[in-house]
Amino acid sequence: MPDEAYADPPEDGLPEPGAPLAGLVLVSTPIGNLGDISPRARQALADADLILCEDTRHSARLLSAIGVGVRTEPLHEYNEDARIAPVLGMLRAGRRIALISDAGTPLVSDPGYRLVRAAVAEGLKVTAVPGPNAAVMALTLSGLPPQPFLFLGFPPPRSAARRAAFGTLRAAERAGLSATLIWHEAPHRLAETLEDMAFSFGPRAAAVARELTKHFEEVRRGTLTDLAAFYASSQARGEITVLVGPPEEDDQEDLDGALTRALATHSVKDAAALVSAATGLPRKIVYARALAMGRPDDSA
Ligand code: SAM
Repeated sequence: MPDEAYADPPEDGLPEPGAPLAGLVLVSTPIGNLGDISPRARQALADADLILCEDTRHSARLLSAIGVGVRTEPLHEYNEDARIAPVLGMLRAGRRIALISDAGTPLVSDPGYRLVRAAVAEGLKVTAVPGPNAAVMALTLSGLPPQPFLFLGFPPPRSAARRAAFGTLRAAERAGLSATLIWHEAPHRLAETLEDMAFSFGPRAAAVARELTKHFEEVRRGTLTDLAAFYASSQARGEITVLVGPPEEDDQEDLDGALTRALATHSVKDAAALVSAATGLPRKIVYARALAMGRPDDSA
């Protein structure tokens, strides 16, 4: 059977790739390199009656660069709910509406999910023009197993919540989850996030992908411990995606490593609380192990 993408045009003679897309069209845009806008993405935007943008001023630069003068309106986190009814009304009336975000694939760590869910629930046509996505590009360059992968958006900004989130993932890994984990992160938080990751996940294989598709594109690969040490002394810049490989070590080594680090600077009780949150292991088990290990200076 021929691959559908290369099949002959239908008998009415209309070639599929050029047909204007109807309904709500999710259009992926570049994540840093204008050359990554596809001809089909440009066409979908030019054919639209209205383009919904996460930030109209930001997208004006892209639209002007590719010669698209279609009307734009904002659709962002704060007005998405209010915009759903009018947008569905336009779709019912047969309008073509494109949705773009500031960069990459809409909905992925970006607005649009609630609109898509509402349009799908009404049986309205929803389609997409695929394209750039930072998480998938980073995954393919990381050297880590490409599947299964788990994309987690941004980690919580505060350390306590972040360690608790990583602890939940460690608990899931102990229950059988084995996937490459992917997060976005802001440059000013990268060092502390890597430190928390090293604490929770131990010295496993990881990667930091920076400024993908741009002039200073870089993928730094190493253990979480090495990457945390590197970024502790070197301020990261630009847009960043962090990847952590699936678990390799057994839990006991993992627990002992985390406890050794925590006991160097905390009491047995505090170290047990910290490690329990970061690893997702029950506090009683961690406390018992911490007592057995003792603080480094206890034997002196
Ligand atoms: N929807 C976008 C996508 O499909 O890639 C992601 C939007 S999210 C709000 C933006 C975050 O994605 C950035 O803070 C950064 O963590 C990551 N990101 C975006 N562009 C990137 C790039 N060129 N290189 C590395 N990470 C990038």
